[in-house]
Amino acid sequence: MLVSQIIRNKAHQGVVTLLPGTTLAEAAQLLSEKRIGAVVVSTDGSKVAGILSERDIVREIGKRGTSALQDKVEDVMTRNVFGCNPEDNADLVLQTMTQKRFRHLPVMEDGKMIALISIGDVVAARLAELELEKDALTGMIMGY
Ligand code: AMP
Repeated sequence: MLVSQIIRNKAHQGVVTLLPGTTLAEAAQLLSEKRIGAVVVSTDGSKVAGILSERDIVREIGKRGTSALQDKVEDVMTRNVFGCNPEDNADLVLQTMTQKRFRHLPVMEDGKMIALISIGDVVAARLAELELEKDALTGMIMGY
């Protein structure tokens, strides 16, 4: 399965982004409202400046208390962002996420972000694929 197949159903949703100068309090509010675990930081919605995950917010609050909520996203975000391409294999993407211990990957095309996939998206797509394979094999064995 390719990344392009996974994002096909998400493409119309667009990608939620935040400006670098936003506070962590505003970022937490956005994550909560949108029911997502990470947001890409971008000034134009397509170039990736960084990524901010709920873990980054929790880490800062854990270190310095709730005053950290007034910090700017750009001071806390991860700047070295790993991405993937639409033609990448989903198994490889899952491997990267597992090895590098993060759950989100921007999907890049011609230097622009076209989607963000989460580990949940990849696992759900793989499970659906496995279910289809199981049905096909059952059909072959049972002769229907
Ligand atoms: P996550 O598991 O995605 O919630 O993120 C765990 C940590 O990895 C956080 O510090 C994120 O900022 C960072 N992170 C998340 N996604 C990426 C990515 N695609 N590339 C680099 N770092 C990331």
